[in-house]
Amino acid sequence: ERGCNEEVQKAQRAAAERNGGSPSPPTIFSRIIDRTLPADIIHEDDKCVAFRDVNPQAPVHFLVIPKTPIARLSQVNASDTELLGHLLVTASRLAHKEGLADGYRLVINDGKHGAQSVYHLHLHVIGGRQMGWPPG
Ligand code: 5GP
Repeated sequence: ERGCNEEVQKAQRAAAERNGGSPSPPTIFSRIIDRTLPADIIHEDDKCVAFRDVNPQAPVHFLVIPKTPIARLSQVNASDTELLGHLLVTASRLAHKEGLADGYRLVINDGKHGAQSVYHLHLHVIGGRQMGWPPG
């Protein structure tokens, strides 16, 4: 428990450095990472956490988030390349584990036009039914 909080604090300091000294406000996802808010967590490692979306849009809908609270995709830089790759590889592995052999949709909403509601970067993995295109 204590170790998890230290992890979040470390991540928040890293985020503050990224934002030129101003800390990005903690979101509800920081509370899922430090276990002060319950979630159905399906994966955790040193860099990320994955958990089921509380308002699923398909039979399978989970989120993959970095422990470092990067606010949104438009704020990433070259130093995040390895982390972003890790999030994608993790999403792919978990999709396989969740039985999404017929495919799935990966979504990252960014900012107002992207309809982002939680400002802690997250990958949506959505599957278990036929998707449509274009998205709304
Ligand atoms: P966004 O619109 O920012 O891309 O997606 C945020 C997602 O987080 C939404 O799909 C929403 O249902 C999910 N979400 C928001 N709050 C919680 C929460 O407290 N727990 C879980 N598990 N998911 C949440």
